[in-house]
Amino acid sequence: MHDSTSAKTGTLYIVATPIGNLEDITLRAIRILKEADYIAAEDTRHTKKLLNHLGIDTNLISYYREQEQQRAEQIVRFLEEGQDVAIVTDAGTPAISDPGTVVVRKARERGLKIVPIPGPSALTAALSCAGIEEKAIMFHGFAPAKKTQRKKLLQTLLHADYYAVFYESPHRIEGFLQDAIAALGDRQIFMARELTKNFEELQQTSLSELIVITSSRKSRGEHVLILAPADAVPSKEMDIDDLILWYRDHSSLSLKDSCKTLAADLGVSRSKLYKRALQLWSDDEGTGNL
Ligand code: SAM
Repeated sequence: MHDSTSAKTGTLYIVATPIGNLEDITLRAIRILKEADYIAAEDTRHTKKLLNHLGIDTNLISYYREQEQQRAEQIVRFLEEGQDVAIVTDAGTPAISDPGTVVVRKARERGLKIVPIPGPSALTAALSCAGIEEKAIMFHGFAPAKKTQRKKLLQTLLHADYYAVFYESPHRIEGFLQDAIAALGDRQIFMARELTKNFEELQQTSLSELIVITSSRKSRGEHVLILAPADAVPSKEMDIDDLILWYRDHSSLSLKDSCKTLAADLGVSRSKLYKRALQLWSDDEGTGNL
């Protein structure tokens, strides 16, 4: 499918595919996927289903994170031989917290033509419904899986004057929210869950409310989380007493374990915190579960 401007070398197409609803694919994406010489897919079995649905039988090759360097070399060779290659991932736009970056860089280094075929992305879908105006937005992708690194990153948002966007997987969302409330207090947060799917949910809420909602769910689904900046209204700075009471009312941890977690999160003395927690507990007779 070469045009006169790229007679010798092929073109690398970065093709966005649906993030849930199969109707969310552009006419141009369908045409490019049909006309390309190869489709390089993160998971060929997953993409085969989409291609079958669209009646497309273009050659599939695999392009997954663990083999990204080698596969990128192979794709660049195809491009240099004059073949067109379309890159797709399991959902959304390639190279946005997904494989794709390596081949894009290599293709650019060799002066090959790269063309974006824009379409769905969980990032833009969530932002489009968040109602954010004026402030800057920082996209973090996935927060670090390691708790210490995640907490360090979240602490950098304490005085940030921008919205911070995170992708989060179903099994890490609770940990992320717990670390966020410990680092930032009870910030406002926008949650976009299962976008374009049957159980799509959009909610402007607070971290403490979202922790309660999330912990009561069996199936958590895919999330985009948009943390408001410190000065967004309404927001409530939580002091240590608030955090102790929050753990008492919403966490399944014992008094001792809550104090251990909080002391580590806040970098304060565990014994002082424990003393204060006992005091609060006896001031506020029998209303909680610590
Ligand atoms: N490249 C993709 C894009 O453009 O959206 C993102 C891929 S990343 C590996 C997967 C993460 O994106 C999920 O863990 C979730 O945070 C977010 N995500 C993907 N699909 C989503 C959906 N339907 N609803 C909410 N979040 C979604």
